[in-house]
Amino acid sequence: MNAEKNKVVSFHYTVTGEDGEIVDNSRDRGEPLAVLLGHGNIIPGLERAIEGRAVGDKFEVQVEPADAYGSRNPEAKQRVPKKYFQGAAKLKAGDVTVLSLKEGGQRIVTVLKVGMTAIDVDLNHPLAGQKLTFDVELTGVRDPEPVELQHGHAHGNGGHAH
Ligand SMILES: [Zn+2]
Repeated sequence: MNAEKNKVVSFHYTVTGEDGEIVDNSRDRGEPLAVLLGHGNIIPGLERAIEGRAVGDKFEVQVEPADAYGSRNPEAKQRVPKKYFQGAAKLKAGDVTVLSLKEGGQRIVTVLKVGMTAIDVDLNHPLAGQKLTFDVELTGVRDPEPVELQHGHAHGNGGHAH
């Protein structure tokens, strides 16, 4: 069975940024990531690279910003009251943190400057504008459970727990 849309694939990966630094590594977490392919659960460039692969395949793929976290928008800065941050007292410039949005949901931001009552943040994803290199090892491909298709993501080991 090969990896394709609507299959649950499991894989280990290492992501390296343009500066050669490792950004994320699934082996540090102990188990491979499980993803329902074709539902936008991972960046488009990686999804395409996994399609058609078989269990045991190891490959490296370079993903341009447009197929990863988008380009950097230098205007995407905002001054946000401290109450919207978790652990605002400890934040300092350069920290990456999660901001709870008024309209619901969350967003990863980078702290630019901490003021008395507000914090200036860069709203770009920390990996925006970066070409990323993924080292991938496909460890599993299976058919999804009906409920996984309904939810649009994988459950169980390496997937959503809820
Ligand atoms: Zn679910």
